[in-house]
Amino acid sequence: MSDDPLEELHTDEWEAEMESVLEETEYDTELGLEMAKDAQRLVAGDLSEAEFYERYHGAVVEEFGVDDRPVGTEEGVVEAMRGHDGPGLLQRLADAETADDVDRRELLKKFGAGAAFLGLGAAATKEASEEAAAATPTGSEDDDGTQWGMVIDLNKCDGCLACVTACQQENNTSTGANWMYVFTYEEPNQETQNFLVRPCQHCTNAPCEKVCPTTARHTRSKDGLVLTDYDVCIGCRYCQVACPYGVNYFQWGEPDTPGSELDENHVYDERDRRVDSRPPKGVMGKCTMCPSRQDGKMGEEQVGTTACEQACAMDAIHFGDMNDPDDDPQQHLERVRNEQPNDLDTYPNRPTNTVSTFRLLEEFGTDPNVVYVGNEPSEEAEQVEGPVTYEDIGEVDRRKEVLDDGTFGGVRS
Ligand code: SF4
Ligand code: SF4
Ligand code: SF4
Repeated sequence: MSDDPLEELHTDEWEAEMESVLEETEYDTELGLEMAKDAQRLVAGDLSEAEFYERYHGAVVEEFGVDDRPVGTEEGVVEAMRGHDGPGLLQRLADAETADDVDRRELLKKFGAGAAFLGLGAAATKEASEEAAAATPTGSEDDDGTQWGMVIDLNKCDGCLACVTACQQENNTSTGANWMYVFTYEEPNQETQNFLVRPCQHCTNAPCEKVCPTTARHTRSKDGLVLTDYDVCIGCRYCQVACPYGVNYFQWGEPDTPGSELDENHVYDERDRRVDSRPPKGVMGKCTMCPSRQDGKMGEEQVGTTACEQACAMDAIHFGDMNDPDDDPQQHLERVRNEQPNDLDTYPNRPTNTVSTFRLLEEFGTDPNVVYVGNEPSEEAEQVEGPVTYEDIGEVDRRKEVLDDGTFGGVRS
């Protein structure tokens, strides 16, 4: 087996699968695949931000007519603002003074996203990645600002899928778009079923964001949430291919729930960007970590909560500010560290539970903001039917079809 996790990921099988994802769009398949692979090399520290930008700038402009990808250095942002080949964002913004309000609004959004890049969440140099990795999963009192994330205690999960249902109901996601997904799996020579609860990991070093030609996929500077601006997304699916976690769901047809039925407090975030609830047709969706709640738009009492966390009767999901030692994620980690392993009173069905923690595929350099308590699935783990099936809750499990052909092999699809 190779020591390079990217070599392990970039198999012929993976490429064929990703090509089939991209071929369903009107955009360049080869460009999407090559950018995805290099974005993953970038977050792993094998490629510089400037190299990545330069390597694809011409092709991105040719394919999309624009290259609004954020760039990872202050000089790079200035370059993008001034213009690389042709007018930059500043010039286009000035030109738009005379254009209609919609153009100007679009540009302002993009300008904002570019500037935000200098803030939390998107700096992608190897040094930044290493610093961030050193700071998490437990954070420190020195950390500035909020970073929303989760500690998910797999020893407590019983596979009931209440979190899946709650997310679907909160966000009106269409059938089969399981923003929250729970894998049930077995390890060789073990009788017990294990669960892996998998929302978007809201990576600090997110490859999905690196490949987005329009800045639709972006990191919110105030709290590190990785979101999709539905008004800016053009549906190229490049983010889906670049993400190693398989958490993106493209909205092919008209959503099950029409826009008129969405709660207006649960669509736009406080920047007036449409990032919450299910995406419209032709746009990418994924777990958002509930920004309307975090912005107080659904009531002050909902700040610092998510629908999936509230639905979990087993207290497995602990959402909060990963940088705050007094908030729920770090408090839960503290509690489990003080517990005795193999405490059969607390975990009667889980005799193999441990207090070890891990972050999923963290060897890729993504710096995920979800920390798991429990055992990491092995390479030999095999997905099996859980105690509650997706059919039982009126859902469709399309991911299972992808994974049915063999071993668990990580969580990508
Ligand atoms: S899990 Fe995937 S979609 Fe979510 S932030 Fe990370 S790379 Fe992006
Ligand atoms: S967010 Fe939309 S525009 Fe950006 S990469 Fe994803 S599908 Fe393409
Ligand atoms: S955090 Fe919010 S969007 Fe993400 S899985 Fe939970 S309920 Fe769904």
